[in-house]
Amino acid sequence: MNNKTVSVFTSKESYMNQSTSDTSKFPKIVIVGGGFGGIELTKRLKNKEVEVLMLDRHNYHTFQPLLYQVATGGLEADSIAFPLRKIFKNQKNFTFRVTDVESVDPAKKAVNTSIGEIGYDYLVIATGSDTNFFGQKEIEHFSMAMKTIPEALNLRSMILQNLEEALVATDPVEKRSLLNFVVVGGGPTGVELSGSLAELKRHVLPKDYPELSIDDINVYLIEGSDELLGVMSDQASAKSKQFLEEMGVNVFTNLRVESYDGNVIKLSDGNAINTRNVLWSAGVKGAVLDGLPADSISRGNRIIVDQFNRVTAQESIFAIGDVAMQITPENPNGLPGVAPVAIQQGTHLAKNIIRFMNHEQPEPFNYFDKGSMATVGRNKAVVDIGKIRFQGIFAWFVWMFVHLMSLVGFRNKLVTFVNWVWSYFSYDRGTRLIIRRFSRQSMTEDTLSK
Ligand SMILES: Cc1cc2nc3c(=O)[nH]c(=O)nc-3n(C[C@H](O)[C@H](O)[C@H](O)COP(=O)(O)OP(=O)(O)OC[C@H]3O[C@@H](n4cnc5c(N)ncnc54)[C@H](O)[C@@H]3O)c2cc1C
Repeated sequence: MNNKTVSVFTSKESYMNQSTSDTSKFPKIVIVGGGFGGIELTKRLKNKEVEVLMLDRHNYHTFQPLLYQVATGGLEADSIAFPLRKIFKNQKNFTFRVTDVESVDPAKKAVNTSIGEIGYDYLVIATGSDTNFFGQKEIEHFSMAMKTIPEALNLRSMILQNLEEALVATDPVEKRSLLNFVVVGGGPTGVELSGSLAELKRHVLPKDYPELSIDDINVYLIEGSDELLGVMSDQASAKSKQFLEEMGVNVFTNLRVESYDGNVIKLSDGNAINTRNVLWSAGVKGAVLDGLPADSISRGNRIIVDQFNRVTAQESIFAIGDVAMQITPENPNGLPGVAPVAIQQGTHLAKNIIRFMNHEQPEPFNYFDKGSMATVGRNKAVVDIGKIRFQGIFAWFVWMFVHLMSLVGFRNKLVTFVNWVWSYFSYDRGTRLIIRRFSRQSMTEDTLSK
């Protein structure tokens, strides 16, 4: 930990090496995390009499719903990332620092970061979630997660490198293992990833690797429960399985992964698959900061908050988005870890913080569920909006429209749109590039776990 005391308020010109007791007359709100929740909250605090400091370990926002397209060569990483400073370039009360926030000290009203200690009047933890390997260290080491852009790029490199290696492999077992792709976890990410791999296999690989037989390339999707997309309707679950099977994905439900040593994945039914490609999308856990009392952390490593998003027993610490565990009568296990929850909580908390500052009664948060959707592949998606459920090509267009509109930045929207139109008509993927070689040894702390 860096013990330097840092002040990052009052003006954009002077921020380092000052005491935390700076002279600003406005309350200081420190927001940890520039994800969906942190961004929305910050926007809503524009022109309010507060000073906002956002801290994030990356200088960009990641649009996670399209990470799988980066991992499978469909989109450039730049299309789904947006510089945080640029989003708020016209917001005078906004300051940003790239830093890893390590812990919070509620008694001192400060956070400890890689650039020093930073004081706050109000702290908002909007750190999202990390991949959950449920304590299985070997699986964590040998499989690939996909929560960040560096991880998606690693995944892309690994897939392409293994295809190149398969071309020159002389041992048939080795070759098979390089061409077997196993996705673990049948939630939206697993469904989208396995569908995208199936399309890569069908439309792109035969052109790029004519020496490989398409029948030698296998995509498996392993799900522990009895259905895919468990958070969606039964129709969506059944249809997504049907779509994937039509696309050639081997879907297995009620099956758990017992172990994976980098070469063989062992399954709970006693079967095993030789594979060098295991893509883990079987769970997430809250990215909590150290320093909060143990009784404010729930199962699933999320921070327990009340109906105002205030952390248990803390007057001036709040949590929003994936990291927050907000229990409601309709959601006894907490609100779902999806972007709309983070966005709506960010919007709502902006008003409540002002109310807290003015000693007014805050208003409880109510989540408005607009529905959920997942894409499986070309012309294939599933959409649930309340009691309305539809699947297929119209659902796919709805999915594309919603995701395009949700991307941050006009350039990103345009580039993504052009890419999708191009891919649709050409059946091609433009970004099958190994820009930096992936090697497990060279994976940094950042790409391994964050
Ligand atoms: C592959 C994938 C696909 C998804 N698809 C969908 C979808 O289709 N629809 C949907 O609604 N949701 C989807 N989600 C979920 C959605 O992305 C999350 O619910 C949403 O991002 C949560 O927003 P957030 O603000 O809580 O956190 P995030 O958006 O995750 O942002 C957290 C931020 O905090 C930063 N951070 C974390 N810890 C620290 C620290 N210690 N120090 C400094 N910075 C830190 C991170 O760098 C990040 O920028 C998907 C998620 C994934 C991973």
